[in-house]
Formats: sequence, structure tokens, C-alpha cells
Amino acid sequence: MQNVSDTRGRPLRDLRISVTDRCNFRCTYCMPKEAFGGDFAFMPRSELLHYGEIGSIVKAAVPLGVRKLRLTGGEPLLRKDLDWLIKGLKAIDGIEDIALTTNGSLLPQKAQELAEAGLDRVTVSLDALDDETFRAMNDVKFPVARVLEGIDAAIAAGLTPIKVNTVVKRGQNDDQVVALARHFRDKPVILRFIEYMDVGTQNGWRLEDVVPSGELFQRIAAELPLEPVAPNYEGEVARRFRFADGVGEIGFISSVTKPFCSTCHRARLSAEGKLYTCLFATEGHDLKSLIRDEDADVARLSEHLATLWVARDDRYSEIRSDDTRDLPKVEMSYIGG
Ligand code: SAM
Ligand code: SF4
Ligand code: SF4
Repeated sequence: MQNVSDTRGRPLRDLRISVTDRCNFRCTYCMPKEAFGGDFAFMPRSELLHYGEIGSIVKAAVPLGVRKLRLTGGEPLLRKDLDWLIKGLKAIDGIEDIALTTNGSLLPQKAQELAEAGLDRVTVSLDALDDETFRAMNDVKFPVARVLEGIDAAIAAGLTPIKVNTVVKRGQNDDQVVALARHFRDKPVILRFIEYMDVGTQNGWRLEDVVPSGELFQRIAAELPLEPVAPNYEGEVARRFRFADGVGEIGFISSVTKPFCSTCHRARLSAEGKLYTCLFATEGHDLKSLIRDEDADVARLSEHLATLWVARDDRYSEIRSDDTRDLPKVEMSYIGG
């Protein structure tokens, strides 16, 4: 099997793997409490891909071009024995990099075992330094100090440079950006500001709530001058800047105001084994039934994945409009961001 490209000439390079749809936070922009309350039906555990099944899908994806993996969720650290999964994935020939996106709440106790299992990098989501603002955004009153402890634990475990993701929502945490930039710039941390996106259908997204990266750039640069830095590789989603005094770097992920569909080389696997070729896809392709009902081996999975990727035409962010907004998109907590 050879590397594959989609209908727009985009190769398949990254696979994002959601290991659970559950989360201990209720971030207002992702899993608002009104929609994800006590009676919400999460996936039954028997429906989640087993670690062996995830391994088979990764083995099938490598010959097509996948080199990087990112574990996500829901909150991936809620899934039991994640270090086993990491160990298994690390042993797959061709996998060059394994990263994890987490809300950081369980990192203080888990960072070391994750690093020992072979995790290369970690991205921690943190939307504010002000405790009241952060508690309101995660909506379970989780304190900032515990996430900062998690970041410190990840630094101590050598999972550096750590990336910190901040989703900015107008009127909620846009007053936090300069303080966040100041706080992290002399640490082994790269802070990235993410434009609030219209993923899923439950977060009540409105264009007015998006703070364009250009506006954030101006606010930060007015206090801490910035200089552009070349991308690390083609298709890097964050636009990078360094502080002009030489201390630290930040990035902007502008999915709304500057879409990057033309270089998007990511596939996403949901916790129940559906493959999505776009974050905004309305439907996934069921791989679990191929494995469980049809006993598909790695070669057959690989052929199937190739067929799906070759047919891919997605570019939602480039064609976002009033008409696309109400499509029945999957939730971020399900597909993993
Ligand atoms: N629970 C983990 C976490 O929060 O890092 C991993 C899953 S979360 C869905 C992955 C990333 O998606 C997080 O950095 C989160 O901030 C981001 N995210 C969630 N909803 C978003 C939205 N509506 N717009 C932009 N980013 C969003
Ligand atoms: Fe949970 Fe992450 Fe979504 Fe927040 S962004 S609700 S931490 S999955
Ligand atoms: Fe990729 Fe879809 Fe996002 Fe465009 S909208 S960058 S195709 S995931």
C-alpha cells in the first residue's frame, strides 16, 4: 500500500484518536451543561474500541502515510490504563510522534507514567489565569492552580515543549490573553490562541463571540512586541510568533478567519471506531463493525481507509456560511478536536 492523497491532493499524515466521549469538565463552548447533563447518554463501554482495535487501525493507517498520532477525547486521561495504549502505539513501526490533548486535571498524578510509556508531547487546554473566569468556563468550578500543577508535572516529566491551548470567547476570557502570554513565555510552554469554532450543534456558537486572531495579535503586540516565525512544517495550523525580546513564542489558530483546509492532512477516529475526514463532518465511517463483525485484518482495513481518504473532499472552514451552520455536525467532545 502506498501513501494516499485525497481529491484535493492532500496527503494523510495525522490521526487523532478519541479514546472516550466522557469528560469531567463542562466547558461552555464544548459540552454545555444544558446539553450534557446528568441524564446524557454517553457511549456504553462495550462500544468503545479496545486498545488492540485502535492498534490495528493505526497499523493500517501507517502504510497510507500516517506518522503522527494525537490521543484526545472527551478527556482522554479518564480512560483506564492509557499508558498501555501509548506503549502499544509507540511500538508500531512508522509512528514518529505521539501527543495527547488534555484538560490537565489528572496530569499531576499521570504525567510521569505517560512519559515512561513513550508519550512524546502534551497539549494542555487552559482558558484563563483568573480563577473565577476559568471556573466559569469549565463550569465544574475546577481551579486554575490544579491545571498549572498539571503543566508543571508534564514539564518535570520531560514532555516538553508543552503546548497550552486557549479557546477565546468574546466577553468571557478575551481579557485574559495578555496575562496568559506573560505567564507562559519564560517557561518551556508554547501558548496558542484558538478561535472559537462552530463545532457540533450544542454550544450556541455565534460569529459575534469569535475574537479574530488579528485582534488578539494587536492586543498582545501592543504590550509585548512580536515577530513572525516560519512554520515548523507544511500544514502547521498555528501561525507562530516570537516575542521580540527573545523570550518565548506564541501561536494563533485561526480556523474561522483564516481557514487551513487546503493543507489539512488529518483523519479523526471516534472512541466508538468511526473515522471522520473533517472536524465538521456530519457522518463518520464505521470501522468497528469491519473489525468486530467482518473480522477484517490490517490489510483489509488499510484498503478501506485508502478508499475513504482518496474520496475525501472536505473543506468546511473554507465554505463556512449561514447555510452550513445548521448542518447536523458531530460534537467536539465526541470527535476530539
Ligand atoms: N478534553 C481535552 C481538552 O480539553 O484538552 C481534549 C478534548 S477537547 C475537545 C480538544 C480541544 O478542543 C481543546 O483544546 C478545546 O479547548 C478545544 N475546543 C473544544 N471546543 C471548541 C470550540 N468550540 N472551538 C474551538 N476549540 C474548541
Ligand atoms: Fe471536556 Fe475538553 Fe470539551 Fe472542555 S474542551 S468539555 S475539557 S472535552
Ligand atoms: Fe480540515 Fe475540515 Fe478543519 Fe478544513 S474544516 S481544516 S478540512 S478538519
